[in-house]
Amino acid sequence: MTPDEAARLLAAAAAFDNRQPSEIAKQAWASALRDLPLDDDTFDAVARYYSAPAAPGETGRRWIEPHHVRSHRTKIREERLGATTPAYSPADPDETAQDFVARRRAQLRAIADGRQTPTPIRSLTGGPHPTVARQLATVGRDIPDHADEPYMPDGFREAIGIAATPPELRVPCPKDGCKAPARQHCKTPHGRRRATPHQARTDAAGAPS
Ligand SMILES: [Zn+2]
Repeated sequence: MTPDEAARLLAAAAAFDNRQPSEIAKQAWASALRDLPLDDDTFDAVARYYSAPAAPGETGRRWIEPHHVRSHRTKIREERLGATTPAYSPADPDETAQDFVARRRAQLRAIADGRQTPTPIRSLTGGPHPTVARQLATVGRDIPDHADEPYMPDGFREAIGIAATPPELRVPCPKDGCKAPARQHCKTPHGRRRATPHQARTDAAGAPS
């Protein structure tokens, strides 16, 4: 606001506190509130300050200062915004991020001014997407106790593009000294993992060797 506008605001304050107009006060207020417009909200902030109930322990005469105007004006505008989001209107697909921010600020300003009605936040309804639901269904299921093979729900490997378990690993190894359970790799006599399954296991699985 300009010094002349500050003088008008101080005149409004004087109606409550009988302060005397002064040149230095209007310059100081204009400087402190240079980014605030002199609008209804600014005048209302003064009225709010003087009409608010006394705080516990508050004594003496009230004397408004620029920071009171600022905080009350902010509060007035925040109350108008409430727990709402501005209505989203599909914009130009070519809209840039800067354009969006500018549009959004203008929207918020319009709501705070009372020129636009905000859209209440809608609660979300409905369940998760089917693919998420399918994966959620596996949560809490027992995980097989074998070290080599990470547990994955049926069909999950294929879904994420990992090769399915080779047929010979779907059966336990029948070879004495190995006897690796299904899904675990065959072991050497020293207990190391073999790169290939035992022939007997391949045969048992019916897979081509
Ligand atoms: Zn084996």
